Amino acid sequence: MKNKGLRQGNGRDAACLPRAQLLQAIAAIADLRQRLSVLEEAKQALDEKYQRLRSIILNNVDGVIVVDREGIIRFINPAACSFFVERCASGNLVGELFGIPMVDGESTEVDVLSPQRVPRVAEMRVMEMVWEGEPAYLASLRDITARKQMEQALQEKTMELESANAELSQYAYVVSHDLRAPLRAIRNYADFIREDLEGELNTDLRMYLDGLNTAVNEADAFVSDLLELSRLGRRDSTFEVIDMGAFLRQQLALFDAEDEVEVVMPEEWPGIEADIVLLEQIFRNLISNAIKFNTSEPKRLELGWRRLASEPVSGEGKGGNKMYEFFVRDNGIGIDPRYHARIFQMFERLHTREEYDGTGMGLAIVKKAVDKLQGTIRVTSSLGEGSTFFVVLPEFQAL
Ligand code: ADP
Repeated sequence: MKNKGLRQGNGRDAACLPRAQLLQAIAAIADLRQRLSVLEEAKQALDEKYQRLRSIILNNVDGVIVVDREGIIRFINPAACSFFVERCASGNLVGELFGIPMVDGESTEVDVLSPQRVPRVAEMRVMEMVWEGEPAYLASLRDITARKQMEQALQEKTMELESANAELSQYAYVVSHDLRAPLRAIRNYADFIREDLEGELNTDLRMYLDGLNTAVNEADAFVSDLLELSRLGRRDSTFEVIDMGAFLRQQLALFDAEDEVEVVMPEEWPGIEADIVLLEQIFRNLISNAIKFNTSEPKRLELGWRRLASEPVSGEGKGGNKMYEFFVRDNGIGIDPRYHARIFQMFERLHTREEYDGTGMGLAIVKKAVDKLQGTIRVTSSLGEGSTFFVVLPEFQAL
């Protein structure tokens, strides 16, 4: 019985043990399979990612090249290869000397060829990188031929414009300068005729001579303003620090208009570095217009200023450059906002000479002088509401 029992017991143990191991092994295999499938999925995802990145690099229109520290090409995409068409034709460039010096962070222009062997310009940007565990350079090449051609065309056009402008300015100068003498002669001859025929002149002849005189005076004013404008453009500026308060008081005195005009201005004024001739052109014309285009009783003229935010300026010891806004305000006839931009152009007038005399050059001269002082000018006004001209000028002239 004992034996039987033992046998039975042994027989049961012997039968149980391999089964448990078998189950364990089966579980381990299942686990391995699962891990394998996870790994395979991960590998597949990685492969897809790699293929996508590869395809991006291979199909990129920009060239991509990896060059090692010895200057040997380790990777090159087709776009980069096509830039070196001659060399590329002989086969894969990997393993060949690149031959163009590379400096980390630098961007250089490289002469290359198009696939049709037309000379092109590429911009090469270089970055340090690690390639297969070793330090290397990654260069990207972009065809910038179109941009370079546009830049060159723009430069040529600018030069053409500058030369045409200089020619025009020379022409305006010569014409305005040379026209003054014949105009003076016409005026003199008209005066001689009037003197010689004094007493014999009938009303018509007197009227003709008066008309001739007015026309000559208008032409003379016009030619003088044109000459002034072209002189302004040709003249070299001389800068000095000018006390704006003293300067403006001096300008106002020249108009001798205390009886006619009520002037309001603060006591305190800043000093700015400027060319006095340019400042005179600006403020004389603005003050003169404020009095001329004004039918109010009494005429009022307000001058003022404020400091604007600082602007950085190059120039030793000057630090941040202050900008000042000066204004000339009147209670005159005002200007329709539709014409605010136009009035700064040459010969632009909003009235006939019979209404207000002038040549239409004053504000063009002001604008040119403001530009030369690296400033800006604008106007706020509406019809019947008076006008305010704002002139922004720097404290110092940047070099
Ligand atoms: P001009 O004074 O010789 O007519 P400007 O170039 O100085 O020429 O001015 C152009 C035009 O702008 C003037 O004809 C006038 O119509 C208008 N204008 C200029 N300043 C003022 C002002 N302060 N008030 C009203 N209109 C003005």
